[in-house]
Amino acid sequence: MEARLWESKFVRLCRFDDDRRGRDRIGVVLDDAVADVSEILDALPAARYPYPPGDALIAALPDLRPEIERLAAAATPAPLSSLRLKAPVANPGKIVAAPINYQSHIDLDLVGSDIAHAHIISHISKAGLFLKAASSLVGPAEGVTIAFPDRRNDHEIELVAVIGRTARNVPRERALEHVAGYCIGLDMTVRGTEDRSFRKSADSYSVAGPWLVTADEIGDPGALEMRLAVNGRQRQKANTRSLVYDLPKLIEYASSVYTLYPGDLLFTGTPDGVGPVKAGDVIECAIERIGSMSVAVR
Ligand code: MN
Repeated sequence: MEARLWESKFVRLCRFDDDRRGRDRIGVVLDDAVADVSEILDALPAARYPYPPGDALIAALPDLRPEIERLAAAATPAPLSSLRLKAPVANPGKIVAAPINYQSHIDLDLVGSDIAHAHIISHISKAGLFLKAASSLVGPAEGVTIAFPDRRNDHEIELVAVIGRTARNVPRERALEHVAGYCIGLDMTVRGTEDRSFRKSADSYSVAGPWLVTADEIGDPGALEMRLAVNGRQRQKANTRSLVYDLPKLIEYASSVYTLYPGDLLFTGTPDGVGPVKAGDVIECAIERIGSMSVAVR
């Protein structure tokens, strides 16, 4: 195991709770095992109030990578199944999200449906972006708790980019240099007339996981297969090549309005096939080169 950890370098960083080791541990994932590298948190720069914006671990990741690899190689891995995975970023300053960023979602889910409300804005350039509360973020093991049980609550699988470096007015050609890595996102949504920031920001309505895969491991984020099933039945299947605004364009667009900080999450939009979930359901989602996660609905 140790030799394989060395060979693989670290590409999958997770955060977890564990009965034996405690809460909010940091781990490197290899196959079905996790090497606890929480000691790395001692290497974070000392900070004084007011704390710098962004997630301290994500901001320091490029500098800490060799030491994380050393710690991972020295650790005795624990079975992945014995851990409870949390969102890979502990302290995102903001969660930026793209609405209507797959044409199929507009054509098949929204136009003419009862979830279309007011008027359909048909292009992201008119809709802009929106923000989800950072307090809505959970990891796969925490699951989704339905906040509006008498209304329709939908799953939306999305590729999520984790910002790695401060980005302001970044042209699309340089956008991907600002990405630390990727994870799978669920942009949970209650249907209705309220503002998106209300309907998509209830506690647990932003799921990210199962871990952060470093950007170098993903290669082109514009060619990733994704799929989502509820209780074993497939609901969503698409490829990120169908994005209306691809990730470089989204980062250009977002960073022209908001300064993006390390640890900010960018939800890139969902394809067609969104549908309702209720307490008791299990959502399984997978994105190529990242992995898969199972999320219980309560
Ligand atoms: Mn969405």
